[in-house]
Amino acid sequence: MSVADQQGPVPHFIDGKHSTGSSSRSGDVYNPATGQISRQVPLATADDVRTAIASAQAAFPAWAATAPGKRAQVMFKFRELLLANMDQLAEIVSNEHGKTIDDAKGSITRGLEVVEFVCGIPQMLKGEYSEAVATNVESYSMRQPLGVCAGITPFNFPAMVPMWMFPVAIACGNTFVLKPSEKDPSCAVRLAELMLEAGLPKGVLNVVHGDKEAVDTLLTDERVQGISFVGSTAIGQYIYETGCANGKRVQALCGAKNHMVVMPDADLDQAADAVMGAAYGSAGERCMAVSVVVTVGDEAADALIEKLAPRVKGLQVGPYTDPATEMGPVITPESKDRINGYIDRGVAAGATLVVDGREVTVSGHEDGCFVGGCIFDNVTKEMDIYTDEIFGPVLSIVRAESYEEAVKLVNDHEYGNGTAIFTRDGDAARDFVSRVQIGMVGVNVPIPVPVAYHSFGGWKRSLFGDHSIHGPEGVRFYTRLKTVTTRWPSGIREGAVFNFKAGGEH
Ligand code: NAD
Repeated sequence: MSVADQQGPVPHFIDGKHSTGSSSRSGDVYNPATGQISRQVPLATADDVRTAIASAQAAFPAWAATAPGKRAQVMFKFRELLLANMDQLAEIVSNEHGKTIDDAKGSITRGLEVVEFVCGIPQMLKGEYSEAVATNVESYSMRQPLGVCAGITPFNFPAMVPMWMFPVAIACGNTFVLKPSEKDPSCAVRLAELMLEAGLPKGVLNVVHGDKEAVDTLLTDERVQGISFVGSTAIGQYIYETGCANGKRVQALCGAKNHMVVMPDADLDQAADAVMGAAYGSAGERCMAVSVVVTVGDEAADALIEKLAPRVKGLQVGPYTDPATEMGPVITPESKDRINGYIDRGVAAGATLVVDGREVTVSGHEDGCFVGGCIFDNVTKEMDIYTDEIFGPVLSIVRAESYEEAVKLVNDHEYGNGTAIFTRDGDAARDFVSRVQIGMVGVNVPIPVPVAYHSFGGWKRSLFGDHSIHGPEGVRFYTRLKTVTTRWPSGIREGAVFNFKAGGEH
């Protein structure tokens, strides 16, 4: 029976089947729209994780030896299953995360695009060949899988972020242990079920739920060769340092504070539309959310706020089950309290709260984890609503006097995930693109998330490690380069006769 049809604790998925594990510890999974606990999730013991690693280790030799074209066949089938199960997957995501069904489907589609990318994996794994690097000497290179890889993922994209990882790792010939967020764990299990249905051999993809104990086991077990992490910066830095100290290849994609610079010549209607989606979509729980707008000149600031304020006040906040909902709840009651704490401190620090989302209640869902959209004006760079990633629907507007001041703000911030400039001036845009110390840049595009056949990743404290995720960088991360030099003695062909056999057998 699928995880979607079961009551009771969310199972692990180890060696091709559900497992309850051996832990006596469990975590609460909420329905964020009601604020009620909907399920329990087991928090794996080190032994549970080791069982999953052993399964992945045992599956590795045969999977690595499977031709890339055959591995791709599994991905083609998995893609079909994702499409066929889209409604069910979106329901699982929305129920445990809270985002609207449209938003959930959009995120699953972004994961599906990574699966489409790896359907062409033989092309990506092609090596290079040089004839005659010396007399009778050739050189060629190949990319080989690492072995057992692990993924540790955040709560905000329970389908998409795991699909940034395991399809690429597995298509490259690795086996995988996924440790999804314990806050919305069911989707990962459903994805593993679908991979099995698509023809993946058991043990190639395992899912274990858990917290620090499970993660620390993955970080220290010598059978694990590579670790992909997506989550907050404090944990990501720990994962990177601990994983590297244990001899593993690690990529850790972390927190963000994405600035959108609005120049005086920008199309302000377009900019306001962009802010509505980028700041409040998914209740601001996106690592590419715009959480700071830097306006250049007071005129742009005043005009933009005039356009935004009524729209933010009018945002339809509610449960995903209501088709009129534009913005769902945040993930847990604890998260709601944390976000409201930031809003309180922003007011106390002297920022102007133009729209206050603290008092929003949703009829029939009074205990739901809802925070309404907020706009702060006159934010300065010392305030913690500016320095910290709030991860909620709270927008800060910082008024800069010049373009140079705006660029300096972007570059001085500790995070470097995404940024955007809104302008009609090609010269300003070109200069911005060239000088910002940020991994993903948009020009009149507010959330410049790279498509699946490019790679996703920030700079500064938004990414630890050398590789961005998915696309060509993902393939490089999940493979090792081997370069071969060959010399074959000449002469044996002299006098040899190579005849085709009679009867057309070649
Ligand atoms: P988180 O750091 O709390 O959790 C991420 C993962 O780490 C989870 O699987 C969790 O179980 C595990 N974890 C938590 N505490 C741990 C500990 N002490 N030791 C070991 N593992 C631990 O992040 P979150 O709240 O789930 O997600 C939100 C964060 O993720 C935000 O900071 C957001 O910016 C970031 N994020 C970044 C990207 C990106 O691509 N840069 C994408 C999505 C989310």
